[in-house]
Amino acid sequence: MNKFKILFLAFTFLSLFSFAQEKINVVVIGAHPDDCDVDAGGTTSLFTKAGHNVLFISVTNGDAGHHEKGGGALAKIRMAEAQEAGKRVGAKYIVLDHHDGELMPTLAIRLEIIRLIREWNADIVIGPRPNDYHPDHRNTAILMQDAAYLVIVPNIAPDTPPLKKNPVFLFAEDRFQKPNPFQPDIAIDITETFDQKIYGMAAHASQFFEWLPWTMGKLDKVPETEEGRLEWLKEWRKPQLKDNVKQSLIKWYGAEKAEKIKYAEAFEICEFGRHPSDEEIRKLFPMIEK
Ligand SMILES: [Zn+2]
Repeated sequence: MNKFKILFLAFTFLSLFSFAQEKINVVVIGAHPDDCDVDAGGTTSLFTKAGHNVLFISVTNGDAGHHEKGGGALAKIRMAEAQEAGKRVGAKYIVLDHHDGELMPTLAIRLEIIRLIREWNADIVIGPRPNDYHPDHRNTAILMQDAAYLVIVPNIAPDTPPLKKNPVFLFAEDRFQKPNPFQPDIAIDITETFDQKIYGMAAHASQFFEWLPWTMGKLDKVPETEEGRLEWLKEWRKPQLKDNVKQSLIKWYGAEKAEKIKYAEAFEICEFGRHPSDEEIRKLFPMIEK
């Protein structure tokens, strides 16, 4: 082998290696099968399209939230819907087998989540804030916060090697005001992937076309056809860009580009994980630079 071939091979190997290193690993944690999709489905599609890895974890199996079905039969439906939803946005979807509506932030589940974050070698972890209407959401937020920091501690869950670097832990946007309103530290333009987010959400048919419309007394308004349902869901779940999210978009994308953004997902930095600089945030969310 001549030295050019050796150089060429070395270069190929190095570029493959650096390419592999540039992969960003994201974990999104939700209480129910559909929460991850709602919180970060658009951002997820942007990540997975660019070849990065996203894992959705539903901490409960969704076996309670329905007016006609329940128990194991409902959990099976929710699992199948989650698998389809994951495919639609390019994420792996794990549904943990804990009862819906009864989630407690136990040590066992904390360790389960720590192991999953480590096994995914997460750079970013996204989940709900701890003040929320649903106890499962609140307890999921506690579980996520309890995992932040402990994921790097070797003597915790010692069967799974600790992460070398604490991930950036982020809260997804919500509407709750007390004790403190959501602060959009990072805002991601999802105009390009909003339809895909809706398509992913629509896979949770027993949620968006049965259970949630039933809770709102709108079951008779759900269209029959798939096309009609997608349009209906899009109209229903179309996010309004709040002023502070607009400000955040201006910070990250510049005023000119921010002006054209129709849809966004915003995230607040959790103080218990790594504290990223703006430069590091741009590296972790490479779609901002595009
Ligand atoms: Zn939920």
